[in-house]
Order: sequence, then structure tokens, then C-alpha cells
Amino acid sequence: SEKLAEARKNNKATFSFEFFPPKTAQGVQNLYDRMDRMHGLGPSFVDVTWGAGGRMSHLTCEMIKVAQSAYGLETCMHLTCTDMERSKIDEALSAAYAAGCTNILALRGDPPRDKERWEATQGGFRYARDLVKYIRDRYGDHFDIGVAGYSEGCDDQEDVDLLIEHLKEKVDAGATFVVTQMFYDVDIFIDWVAKCRKRGITVPVIPGIMPIHTYAAFLRRANWTRCRIPPEWMEALEPVKNDDAAVREVGKGLIATMCRRLLEAGILHLHFYTMNLAQATRMVLEELNLLPDLEAPLEKPLPWRQSLGLN
Ligand code: FAD
Repeated sequence: SEKLAEARKNNKATFSFEFFPPKTAQGVQNLYDRMDRMHGLGPSFVDVTWGAGGRMSHLTCEMIKVAQSAYGLETCMHLTCTDMERSKIDEALSAAYAAGCTNILALRGDPPRDKERWEATQGGFRYARDLVKYIRDRYGDHFDIGVAGYSEGCDDQEDVDLLIEHLKEKVDAGATFVVTQMFYDVDIFIDWVAKCRKRGITVPVIPGIMPIHTYAAFLRRANWTRCRIPPEWMEALEPVKNDDAAVREVGKGLIATMCRRLLEAGILHLHFYTMNLAQATRMVLEELNLLPDLEAPLEKPLPWRQSLGLN
């Protein structure tokens, strides 16, 4: 399309990668190697998820530090309220600040593994909105603060309109961008963005894109987030479901078509849930012609804030 062509020409379309802290030391080393390689694909930032408490959250801070200092990547650290009293939140924010990280994705968080329902911790925060406000109050404009958006409802709230009200509260508390849950139905997503705009949410909205690695993982994640799968996606994937390479190939086409429609709708930054794997994400970017030219030196991507119109 013209808009996409223009976005490419002006080097305007940008993308980012999400990683999560692996459970084993070997897993961490493998991920660092992969992050180093994926750096070459030209993401404008990478983010690292936050696990509830203990070793995993230290690992998030550590990974942010390594990505920022060793690989020179711009980072965004996820931070949640789950099991986090104020002193732990302060520690995490100081670590991010010291590492040179200037972006935080502020979340309420999933319930800890052993609990079905989310409960507030004494001396901590109840909603992501409260965490956003706290970070703004303490750090002024140092951090860009992102928050989560749900175009098809979330675990404990299916009412999309009510979730938009809560999203508005998060933005009013100081959030400067929104990253959404994964989805496969682009029409629902585009309608939802329009609703957000109508409600006065004017900050950039970044779509969360989940590439397709295997058929089983595709179904599991769609069921888990309860996002709608367009029937034609099932028709395309079902027949090849036992052949992982074919699933990735067909999946690449489906996801790339979805991304093209987003870019045509003027949504120029794509956020990839890599699941710590490079291949499926790289295939989609290649299909979209968004990878740097291997023959030419890597052009520095447009600063992502600029591509989102943040400054
Ligand atoms: P909130 O916006 O605080 O909402 C939580 C619940 O409270 C919702 O049901 C909402 O409707 C309700 N609510 C909000 N405000 C009010 C109010 N004023 N009155 C009454 N009810 C209210 N989880 C992790 O543990 N670690 C991660 O790294 C992580 N990364 C994520 C990244 C993205 C892009 C997304 C979309 C989700 C991520 N999650 C992560 C999952 C997220 O923590 C869960 O979905 C969680 O259940 C909700 O978090 P939230 O920040 O959206 O919470």
C-alpha cells in the first residue's frame, strides 16, 4: 500500500521485541546470545517482562542492564504490583534508573502461580493506575510510562468498555503509551483503537503481535487470552498443523497481512512477543520488508518515541 511504502521509504515503521527471563542459567546465556543476534534486526527497543517476586524480578533488572549497557539497546522494563511492597518497587525503579533505562511498562500483574485471584500486598498498590502515578510523582518525566490495553477483555474483566474507562484512568495518571494484548482479528483491534480515541485516549497505542511458532502454541495462547481467531486463519492452519515448518510459513503470511493492515491504518510501531525465539518474528519482518539491508550498514532506526509522535 501507499502508506506502508511511504512509511518504509521514510524509515517510519518501527518495531520492538519482548523477552522474558528464562528459568535456568543456561537459558539466560542462550537468550543473551539471541538478543545479541536479534539486535541486528534493528528493533527500536526491547522490553523484558516482570515475574512475581524473588529471583525472577532480579533477573529482569539484570537483563535490562545487560541489554542497555552491553548491547546498547533501548529498553523498557515491565514492573508489576504483585507481591511488591513499596520498598521493592523503589529498588526496581532505582535499578532501572541506574541502568539507563527510560521506559517502564507499569502493570498490576498476574496473580502469583499459587493463587487463583489477584490480591493487593500490604504497603503496595492495588491498580496499575496507582503505580503509574507513583512513578510520575517520584521520577517526574524521566520515564516514559506504558500501560496495558485489552481490545478483547482481560482475565478478570470481559467488559471492554469498562476496561477503556480504566485505561483512561491510567493515561490520566501519567501513562504516555499503551501496549496491547495479542490479537488475531485486526478489525476488532482497529475498532477498539477508534473507541479509545473517542474516549479521549490520545497517546500512542502499540499493538502486541504474537508470531505463530507451532499450531499447538497458537491455539493455546489464543484460548488463554480468549482472543477471536478469524475462521480463515483456522482454515489456513488446520491442514498443516502437524508440520511445524509449514505452520510457521503459513503463519508468517497471516501475521504479515495483519501487520500490513495495521500499518495502513497508520499504526506504525509493531511490538513482537518473541517468546524468546527469533525465527518466527524474523520471518514476519522479512515478509514485511522491514529488515535492514544486509549489504548496507545497519541504519539506526528512527527513535521510537519519534515514530510514535511522542516528541
Ligand atoms: P489494571 O489496569 O490495574 O487492571 C486490573 C484489573 O482491575 C482489571 O480488571 C481492571 O478492569 C480493574 N480496574 C482497574 N482500575 C479500576 C478501578 N478504578 N476500579 C475498579 N476496577 C479497576 N503480567 C505480569 O505479571 N508481568 C508482566 O511483565 C506482564 N506484561 C504484560 C504486558 C502487556 C502488554 C499486557 C497486555 C499484559 C501484561 N501482563 C503482565 C499481564 C497483566 O499484568 C494482567 O493482565 C493483569 O491481570 C492486569 O494488569 P493491568 O496492568 O492491565 O491492570
